[in-house]
Amino acid sequence: MNQDFDVNSAARNWRVETTPSASPLEVVNDLFASDVLTLEQLKARLSKSAYKSLQGTVERGAQLDAGIADTVALAMKTWAMEKGATHYTHWFQPLTGSTAEKHDSFLNPAGDGVAIMSFSGKELIQAEPDASSFPSGGLRATFEARGYTAWDPSSPAFIVRHANGATLCIPSVFASWTGEALDLKTPLLRSIEALNSAVTPALELFGASAGTRVGSSLGAEQEYFLIAEEYYYRRPDLVMTGRTLFGAKPPRGQELEDHYFGAIPDRVLSFMTDAEMQLYALGIPVKTRHNEVAPGQFEIAPIFEHSNIAADHQQLIMQVLRTTARKYGLVCLMHEKPFAGVNGSGKHCNWSMATNAGENLLEPGDTPHENMQFLFFCTAVLKAVDTHQDLLRACVASASNDHRLGANEAPPAIISIFLGSELTDIFERIVSGQGGSGKSAGLMGLGSSVLPEIPVHAGDRNRTSPFAFTGNKFEFRAVGSSQSISFPITVLNAIVADSVSELTADLKARLDAGLSLDEAVTEVVKSTYQKYQRIVFNGDGYSDAWHQEAEKERGLLNLRTTLDAIEHLSNEKNVGLFGRLGILNERELAARQEIMYDIYFKTVNIEGETTEYMAQTQILPAALNYLADLGKVGSSRAAQGVTTEVSAAADDLFDAIQALRAQNEALGGEEVHEKAHHMRDHVLPAMNDVRAAADKLEKVVSSKLWPLPTYRQMLFVK
Ligand code: ADP
Ligand code: MG
Repeated sequence: MNQDFDVNSAARNWRVETTPSASPLEVVNDLFASDVLTLEQLKARLSKSAYKSLQGTVERGAQLDAGIADTVALAMKTWAMEKGATHYTHWFQPLTGSTAEKHDSFLNPAGDGVAIMSFSGKELIQAEPDASSFPSGGLRATFEARGYTAWDPSSPAFIVRHANGATLCIPSVFASWTGEALDLKTPLLRSIEALNSAVTPALELFGASAGTRVGSSLGAEQEYFLIAEEYYYRRPDLVMTGRTLFGAKPPRGQELEDHYFGAIPDRVLSFMTDAEMQLYALGIPVKTRHNEVAPGQFEIAPIFEHSNIAADHQQLIMQVLRTTARKYGLVCLMHEKPFAGVNGSGKHCNWSMATNAGENLLEPGDTPHENMQFLFFCTAVLKAVDTHQDLLRACVASASNDHRLGANEAPPAIISIFLGSELTDIFERIVSGQGGSGKSAGLMGLGSSVLPEIPVHAGDRNRTSPFAFTGNKFEFRAVGSSQSISFPITVLNAIVADSVSELTADLKARLDAGLSLDEAVTEVVKSTYQKYQRIVFNGDGYSDAWHQEAEKERGLLNLRTTLDAIEHLSNEKNVGLFGRLGILNERELAARQEIMYDIYFKTVNIEGETTEYMAQTQILPAALNYLADLGKVGSSRAAQGVTTEVSAAADDLFDAIQALRAQNEALGGEEVHEKAHHMRDHVLPAMNDVRAAADKLEKVVSSKLWPLPTYRQMLFVK
């Protein structure tokens, strides 16, 4: 195989026809949400009373009236068929982290060679997929495969298109017949309810009007890599595991830092534009695109939305990126660390709370009153993050994210909050009872302590923090690029709901004791900040000094690996939290933990076997072939020198493969916890040894004989 395969030759086949038509504004206006069954669309197709009833469910969370199901189903079917759909599916998010769909045709034979297209209310409300192939973590015995999907009217139905047709997708939840959640969506919806129930009483104390509802908003920034398809198929590791298990660092990595925000290559830009058009049709407000830090790495970010919708949209973004890349001869890699030694990919989750009137509760305001409210909620977040460091770490835990957290340019596994110097200063003034500067005196009349004006967008930035305040929202950066954001959002909603409830009780007690609102809030903020300020860290999260300080001086958790983190899921604190808020009962939580162990085990197990296979059947033979070639010219000094080098590295590789094989075969026990620990403690180190020997060989074996596309080739898309 010619290893000097020119990266640019891969670029020749990608060009697809493009037909620039109307003005961009017209295109986007016509296109945006054109494949989404919006409430507007339904309004035009339903009777007034049916529409009112549905609207109550969607906008105010009222119980769905089963009596309107038939008319809604008819409207949906008619709309979908106008859009070219022939099939429908209950689209849901099983505990695998991806999405699942089973398509059924609208077609029904009506006898005598005639068929009609039908879709009933019953079919809309509920379906029963063969649930036995989805993980349930023991919630549903496998012999009893019964689970059902139920329509989630709070997320609109949409059309997914393919070359030969289209399918109506009905966002759904997935549960067992006993009512236990088998998916990621149900707990997310429950957590949104919990947040609303916790925050509205607090808002009432601040004088919010009756009928105010609160939800969380989420904007997720998706990072990904693109590589040429030709390379992908020549890398069994990428195909089987999503990451490269071998590969020496290229001579030029991100050292030059010329890629970040650099010009986007033509082929990539064409791909991005195509994907964006499809996402617009799905009503997904994608806004930002740019090159990321590593070569071959990019980012796409939509504008934030209600977190339930954002979670669905995030799954669709990944799906559209993956399928569209193929049209351009590219493969989109969502793995958190596809290339060792190169920047990994995350999915920063920008989270805030907002009322149904559109008021962002994390937005510092212009009036003393608004700022008091802001400080109260901000303090609640500090308390939540400190109390639940373990949960935040656990909800982003996966075998793949372990390679990223704490490595090159990714936040560490230690959870802390970056507040920025200005906001930190404000909290510290409250604690010390100091007033503000003359300029802003009187602006924030918190009792006797007059505070400086809170800047609307705190200017400073810190990329090293796993959890950062960025002006009017918190950015949870530890989330991995390939994962569903549903569980991380569920955790954020849950921990903040719980913390707000506690602080509200505290505030109320102080008000009942006769303090003014100003005084009471000042006291709550002060005492809470004092108690939890160890979680605030504005410095360099990558530094060794921080690791020392965090663990030794501040007593923060450093849960390095997935297994360290997910162990905490079932502790008393977390069972209590999820139970109290009605988000997950103990069994549902235990099931999720079990599945995380299982997925961890399977992921590393597949990696271990793929490493063994590639090393044994591709890399070692290349080294031996090269030695055979060298043998033919053995007399020269160069040939002898190279022979010695290659031969030593090949021996090391051979030994490392033997050791890995033994660990792969051992498996470590019967039980999934034992197997998972065996993978972490024995298989991963053995894989690393194989890789080290193989990467050494890559540098000394003739590139003509090297069986795998190299980092140098793959990382520079042209
Ligand atoms: P940054 O440059 O700080 O990352 P951006 O403006 O690029 O900020 O926003 C990043 C993401 O945060 C986007 O998805 C954006 O829509 C989202 N975002 C902005 N404001 C909010 C908010 N109040 N709540 C949740 N997400 C938000
Ligand atoms: Mg950002």
